[in-house]
Amino acid sequence: MQHVVVIGAGFGGLNAAKALAGSGVRVTVVDANNYHLFQPLLYQVAIAGLDDDNIAYPTRAILRRLPAVRFRLGRVERIDPVARRVTLADGAALDYDRLVLCAGAVTNTFGVPGADTNAFGLKHLHDADAVRQHLLRRFEAAAAEAAAGRDIGTAELSVAIVGGGPTGVELAGGMQELLSRVLRRDYPELPVQGATVTLVEATDRVLGTFAPSLSDHALRTLRRRSVQIELSASVARIDPGAVVLADGRRIEAGAIVWAAGVKAAPLAAASGLALGRGGRIVVDERLRVPEHPEISVVGDIAATPDGKGGVLPQVAQVAIQGGRYTGRAIAAEVAGRAAPPFRYRDKGSMATIGRRAAVSEFPFGLRLRGSIGWVAWLGLHLLYLIGFRNRLNVLVNWAWNYLTYDHGSRLLSGEPPA
Ligand SMILES: Cc1cc2nc3c(=O)[nH]c(=O)nc-3n(C[C@H](O)[C@H](O)[C@H](O)COP(=O)(O)OP(=O)(O)OC[C@H]3O[C@@H](n4cnc5c(N)ncnc54)[C@H](O)[C@@H]3O)c2cc1C
Repeated sequence: MQHVVVIGAGFGGLNAAKALAGSGVRVTVVDANNYHLFQPLLYQVAIAGLDDDNIAYPTRAILRRLPAVRFRLGRVERIDPVARRVTLADGAALDYDRLVLCAGAVTNTFGVPGADTNAFGLKHLHDADAVRQHLLRRFEAAAAEAAAGRDIGTAELSVAIVGGGPTGVELAGGMQELLSRVLRRDYPELPVQGATVTLVEATDRVLGTFAPSLSDHALRTLRRRSVQIELSASVARIDPGAVVLADGRRIEAGAIVWAAGVKAAPLAAASGLALGRGGRIVVDERLRVPEHPEISVVGDIAATPDGKGGVLPQVAQVAIQGGRYTGRAIAAEVAGRAAPPFRYRDKGSMATIGRRAAVSEFPFGLRLRGSIGWVAWLGLHLLYLIGFRNRLNVLVNWAWNYLTYDHGSRLLSGEPPA
């Protein structure tokens, strides 16, 4: 029986494992975390709208129904394509006949000074937790200082977000609601009404990959909701408590989030395989490494060809379809059949701007905005969440937030940071 090792239990890895189950191969899925994370809703954890376990699901619970698929918790540190072996951080080695590499991406700060140390990323569950905890602790500290007689400035209650793509836009809309509808009521002793959410974008529009009319709609909606937007503003550095722009202006904020891009997971560089733009591993039209056809690479970590000379974007559908395709292709080859090349079906993109506001773009020019776009966004995100319990919990949380204008997940857990 051939042994297929799948690295990563994200969208790509899980879909590959599911497609391989019962196909006559033995599968080991390795992940550094024991859960599958639904990253599109990470920002809702950061704004205290959802809990961690609403958007993360135990990987073993997903895989246990699949024949001949096993899970191994561990971080892969090395890939040896010649020996066909991966080595984990705990020293264990796994030999493979086929490798499916789906290790995703990490935050890319593009070398901007201070971005790693003075801003939060938003890529992992601990990032979202850190943003929420930091914000709530800052408000508590400010309230304590206000009680002791100090004047609290609005800047230290403000939030700055770098990056006007879908993540930045969704976070900005959500943060504005958290400040104006929730924290303002929770902290009557603080000048929260003067606190701002500022979105900083280097190009001349937000949601740059969407149609210009949808970008304009998102921009107008955010501004109407009092989000400050700095367009064509490049960031020179991030100081503690301030985003410093190239023209010298400083945007003071108590919490700064860097949502300006991702690059391939570090395992790509450690693999010794050929890399393309953004450090992504170069693959052929069958999503395989040309010099090592026994290695398939899927999702954010791959430079997946779009068939027109470019590469596909780092979005969930590319990983989902690539994972499913790779699993089926390996199963076909093991059964002695040749697999056709990968064909990506663009299902569109969407971004929410907050309560009853979203933009969605589907194939054949179908565009939705406002409440209809928002309902489409809610429905599709629920559909793609894994686990009935998670779907139900998210639905109940959203209904509660919508009806009460409240964000229920505001607990400060763990030891306060030193
Ligand atoms: C905040 C945010 C919002 C997003 N919103 C959207 C959206 O609205 N729509 C959309 O289409 N896309 C969205 N995306 C992008 C989408 O989530 C990714 O494209 C998708 O998750 C990629 O899937 P993947 O399988 O390649 O990687 P991932 O889903 O990131 O999975 C990678 C897995 O590999 C594991 N891993 C990494 N390195 C190692 C290692 N060395 N050893 C073991 N395991 C390892 C990780 O723990 C992880 O489980 C968003 C991303 C973020 C961060």
